[in-house]
Amino acid sequence: MNWETVIGLEIHTQLATQSKIFSGERTRYGAEPNTQACLVDLGYPGVLPVLNGKAVAMAVKFGLAIGATIERRSVFARKNYFYPDLPKGYQISQYELPIVSRGSVVIRLDDGSQKRVGITRAHLEEDAGKSLHETLKDRTGIDLNRAGTPLLEIVSEPELGSAAEAAAYMRKIHQLVRYLGICDGNMQEGSFRCDANISVRPSGDTELGTRTELKNLNSFRYVEKAIEFEIERQIDVLEDGGKVVLETRLYDSDKDETRPMRAKEEANDYRYFPDPDLLPLELDQALLDSIKESMPELPWEKEERFATDYGLNPVDIQILTASSEGAAFFEASAAGLAGNFELAANWNKGELRAALNRDGLTITDSPVGGADLNSLLRRISDGTISGKTAKEVFEAMWAGEGDADEIIEARSLQQITDVAALEKVVRQVVADNPEQAEQYRGGKQKLLGFFVGQVMQATGSKANPAEVNKLLRAKLDADEN
Ligand code: ADP
Ligand code: MG
Repeated sequence: MNWETVIGLEIHTQLATQSKIFSGERTRYGAEPNTQACLVDLGYPGVLPVLNGKAVAMAVKFGLAIGATIERRSVFARKNYFYPDLPKGYQISQYELPIVSRGSVVIRLDDGSQKRVGITRAHLEEDAGKSLHETLKDRTGIDLNRAGTPLLEIVSEPELGSAAEAAAYMRKIHQLVRYLGICDGNMQEGSFRCDANISVRPSGDTELGTRTELKNLNSFRYVEKAIEFEIERQIDVLEDGGKVVLETRLYDSDKDETRPMRAKEEANDYRYFPDPDLLPLELDQALLDSIKESMPELPWEKEERFATDYGLNPVDIQILTASSEGAAFFEASAAGLAGNFELAANWNKGELRAALNRDGLTITDSPVGGADLNSLLRRISDGTISGKTAKEVFEAMWAGEGDADEIIEARSLQQITDVAALEKVVRQVVADNPEQAEQYRGGKQKLLGFFVGQVMQATGSKANPAEVNKLLRAKLDADEN
């Protein structure tokens, strides 16, 4: 039997606001436990939540980016359940009337194909606190710093057909929220995490199979591995004549397997009802217009522009536009290099990324900025230095020795473009290697490389390679007659 996989993701993005969604308490990550939880976050009687306008604007930005309907009226509801890290006894979320509905994004798969994935809704909600099982011996600690942190939960349609598609979708959303500046995307800190809903069905069936939900996946790799494991597990169950149980499961990355955590919803009754402490959220046109005005260039718009403005190939474009910071760096480094943008692309993909990786830095901490790299690339472009010498200059720039021109000057790395000077070296090299010259003339053309190497050696790699080639050919051919 052939099986078909169906996956839907619920992605929780922590919105990058300074303060919480319903209180003025700070949201900084990593603070001492329970130093960032005020009476509102703790759910004391008599306190009232006040909605954070920045969180609303961020949700709207996301909705606009995915071409969704921005609901002019949405409602906050209470989702009631008991848990030690939820002191109020309910979570404020949006239920029947979310702020964003019906959008989509296009994902690109490894084989180059593209697919549009529907996004059912995106709603605002508050995060719960954290239970700490490892810090205290034989006890569980409760840290309420995270309680009330704003989240945007992004719910996809059940339209992802494989673990790879799910990971590609998650990456696309990650890229988008970072472009929009609404989430820092830090997965280790839990700012971006997802639940994966998975089911399988016989190929061709139109009804969905029973799903399981994998909770709290916080890396792209785990999403892919956990889903792959779960697909296999469900198929095995069904092929053995069993039934998939609707349940929540956890992925154990050490064992690379999923385990049951608890029976799913249906049994649960959250008794949702509109929160009487919060008015329905109504968005006016002026606010929507001002948010529209503030939209940055979106990843797919940038990709298109990179193709037209720089004529780069699709693979390079993907790499260079992966983050808006990386794209801005490339653009600064490529300024004024018309006709030679590929040089800038190669340096951004190659030297720059290698150096960043080596030193464990992100592009925003790069000691060599986009404009700095640009001044170096201009010296390659105008023939002052060779690509090879440029690598040496780059390393020196990285080490803080100065800008490109200063280093070229201080180390006298300028290429020898003076034809008379080069001709002298060429003459000498050919005279010193009569045997090779003979063989070259006899048809062994690839010996030209040998001569180029000799000239380079004699000039400390400072000869202009193109000029050397020309002069060598002329000399060797001339000697023949
Ligand atoms: P809940 O809120 O109980 O988790 P939802 O109906 O909101 O359930 O769905 C949550 C996610 O599960 C959505 O992304 C949806 O696309 C996905 N989903 C729903 N049914 C299935 C199914 N049978 N197989 C795979 N994914 C599913
Ligand atoms: Mg769910």
